[in-house]
Amino acid sequence: MVYDYDLIIIGAGAAGLSLLLALDDAEYIQSVKLVERSLGPKNDRIWSFWNNDSVPRYLKAIVTQEWQKWEISVDDCNYPMSHPYHRYCSIRSESLMNLAQQRVQAKTHFDIEFDIDVISVESTSEHALVTTKSGQLTARWVVDTRPPPLKTHHDGLLQCFYGEEIVTDSDVFNSSTVKLMQQLASSELGIEFIYILPFSPNHALVEFTCFSPTIIERTILQARLKSRMHDIIGSQDYKVERHECAVLPMYSINENTNNKNKRLIYGGIAGGAMRASTGYSFLACQRWAKQCATELSSKPLLSATFSLSPFTPIGSVYQKMDRLMLAVLRNDMHIGVTIFLQMFKKVNPERFVRFMTEQATIIDFICIIWAMPKSAFLRVFLFRKKMSIHGE
Ligand SMILES: Cc1cc2nc3c(=O)[nH]c(=O)nc-3n(C[C@H](O)[C@H](O)[C@H](O)COP(=O)(O)OP(=O)(O)OC[C@H]3O[C@@H](n4cnc5c(N)ncnc54)[C@H](O)[C@@H]3O)c2cc1C
Repeated sequence: MVYDYDLIIIGAGAAGLSLLLALDDAEYIQSVKLVERSLGPKNDRIWSFWNNDSVPRYLKAIVTQEWQKWEISVDDCNYPMSHPYHRYCSIRSESLMNLAQQRVQAKTHFDIEFDIDVISVESTSEHALVTTKSGQLTARWVVDTRPPPLKTHHDGLLQCFYGEEIVTDSDVFNSSTVKLMQQLASSELGIEFIYILPFSPNHALVEFTCFSPTIIERTILQARLKSRMHDIIGSQDYKVERHECAVLPMYSINENTNNKNKRLIYGGIAGGAMRASTGYSFLACQRWAKQCATELSSKPLLSATFSLSPFTPIGSVYQKMDRLMLAVLRNDMHIGVTIFLQMFKKVNPERFVRFMTEQATIIDFICIIWAMPKSAFLRVFLFRKKMSIHGE
């Protein structure tokens, strides 16, 4: 059977671009086509994560900025954390795209094509057929990283945010510290806070974020940001360089679970890379990309029986803990403030980072669980147990 490409990757986002880079790193010699719906490279988001040994060196080279300190604040009290190695790092989506494009220019068997809107993927035992608005493509394997639509019924929450990257006239930001959750509070919207990534004393990304059971309208998020912005920078003028806005799923997703297609696997959010309790997925995308690239590079080229294994980048312990935590929050949104506060008060920064980046040890898990308000967790745990005994 003759295919157009050995591998087609759908979507040039965190997962798609990371897979392309990991394939390049693994010296993959077969043809790869990455197709993307948008008309060209986007600069629509900044991916942040805590540095650890699993971050590939080519990504460390494009980190826009890194911070040794991060903190949350509740009722005007700050709770800081810091670590000299596990720094909080940010990468702009345009930097990841630039890096991928440079690699593609150096490799004739790799290609990225924009303005390709994929409609469907069908797979037989021997090949996959990708139907786009501009025609059809065939490949031995397809990796689909299109994020699935948001569910209307789910057992978690939604992370709704609107942010602006701004430049102010005078210095207002403390550029040494990331504000992960400033003014953390529960409100009629859910759990809300401001996220500030300070690039310099007068340049920062400032986001109003809300964990909520339902979608919060963009206009509401914008209005909240506007009023909070006044508290943060005062009445001075500021220039908005860029904005970012999203509703991220905080419930478990894995399209690979019921996927019977031998020639197709899902990656990124669709493939279970999103940490349900936080909305972080960039590092999980890297782990998945490395695993997928290693597998593709090591398998015999003409093996008819080989199919890609759907590696789940977030382990089952984290999935279970996240589900329980989200059930606790859904049961009582006010407890959210206590949960995050206790985490910052009682857990040491290194344990916190290992937990956030899915590298926790058993002792780390015990310390995290110990720091939590136990009665709230126990109530939900026992209630769920009772429901499962009664088969509800
Ligand atoms: C604004 C924003 C900020 C975020 N910040 C962080 C962060 O700091 N840290 C973190 O860990 N996570 C963050 N996340 C969450 C998560 O890491 C990102 O959503 C990440 O981009 C998910 O990667 P992905 O590859 O699954 O999806 P995406 O990066 O969204 O990539 C999917 C790609 O598929 C393309 N596509 C969609 N439909 C089609 C189609 N029909 N045909 C062809 N192409 C298609 C899209 O255009 C897109 O480029 C953020 C998310 C957003 C939206």
